[in-house]
Amino acid sequence: MAAAHQGAAPGVAMSRIDRDHRPDAGPAGTAAALLTIDLGAIADNYRALALQAGPAVCAAVVKADAYGLGADRVAPVLAAAGCRHFFVAQVGEGVALRAILGPGPVIAVLNGASPGSEAACAAHDLVPVLNDRSQRDGWQGLARRLDRRLPAILQIDSGMARFGFAPDEACALLDAPDALAGLDLQLVMSHLACAGEPDSPVNAAQRAVFEVVRRRLPAVPASLAASSGIFLGPDFRFDLVRPGAALYGIAPQADAPNPMRPVIGLRARVMQTRSVPAGTPVGYGHAATVGRDSRLATVAIGYADGFFRSTAGGAAWFGGTRLPVVGRVSMDSLVLDVTDLAPGTIGPGALVDIIGPERDVDAVAAAAGTIGYEVLTNLGHRFHRVYLGA
Ligand SMILES: *Cc1c(COP(=O)(O)O)cnc(C)c1O
Repeated sequence: MAAAHQGAAPGVAMSRIDRDHRPDAGPAGTAAALLTIDLGAIADNYRALALQAGPAVCAAVVKADAYGLGADRVAPVLAAAGCRHFFVAQVGEGVALRAILGPGPVIAVLNGASPGSEAACAAHDLVPVLNDRSQRDGWQGLARRLDRRLPAILQIDSGMARFGFAPDEACALLDAPDALAGLDLQLVMSHLACAGEPDSPVNAAQRAVFEVVRRRLPAVPASLAASSGIFLGPDFRFDLVRPGAALYGIAPQADAPNPMRPVIGLRARVMQTRSVPAGTPVGYGHAATVGRDSRLATVAIGYADGFFRSTAGGAAWFGGTRLPVVGRVSMDSLVLDVTDLAPGTIGPGALVDIIGPERDVDAVAAAAGTIGYEVLTNLGHRFHRVYLGA
């Protein structure tokens, strides 16, 4: 049977847009779900990574709206913590970030400038990563038209087949005397495919490939490591590191204790409770049936909020008690088994922990068969957001 869509009830709260262009979720006391973002923890994480990476310079990656946490709030905090180099993925993100940060900080665009966006890139003082000859040509063409040198970053594909010049392409390019005419090359960079696995031989292999090209540009600063790469050791840090995920509390190495401070907390509100006898089917498709007489709580968070429907063994927490998800996750709700709580402890209006001390972003991601990055960048747009430590 086709599942009926559960649309959100229209109302005042859905029609008001706040200054962040996010739906107004209402005051914290009544919001269906509360997302807490600890800006102080992000600043601490930045300082910890900078210390770890030193003497390399520590940049910050704030693409995808600072991994869903709000670049308008996060980037100024990073700047205040001493960050002078920011990376975004797209020119549009760079334009928005320049308006947030004002003049001064370096803003680099990882995907580079697509044809036609070079002028916007220059107008907002963004530094494009040059990933292939066409991007180099486009940026050089603009430099000629403007009759001034333009800053640029050269990316080498050291073994990921995603962005950047293949090593032999890069060497052939650099053999031409006018290869970088009109350009002020500020960085040569590459990106690791397997940095989260310290034992992978891919890491050393990519580093060796990167070194071959880097030696052709001895005066140009180099960058290879993102969050995980920083923890591969000093050989991988070069002159500048580019963490994103670790700033936001994601574990940089899957099999080691997480050295970063947790950044987000997510709580969702109980809307309804009920008691049901053993054998009662729950939710869409009757995918689950309770095995005992149970008390159930329906909670106002669903896959439209980034609680993945693929989650297996999902749970929320309340005062140290684990409350398993029963049946399928709906668009706007899910059902918890609250039988293990003393009767009367939980009712409509109570908030349960979805992401918190008992269950961090990485654990929530693992239960959904994904990574913390995807959980953060899917955080819902109708959460009431509370920024701490601004
Ligand atoms: C996203 C990205 C980063 C940041 O990666 P994290 O794993 O989040 O630290 C750094 N460099 C490049 C090229 C990226 O695409």
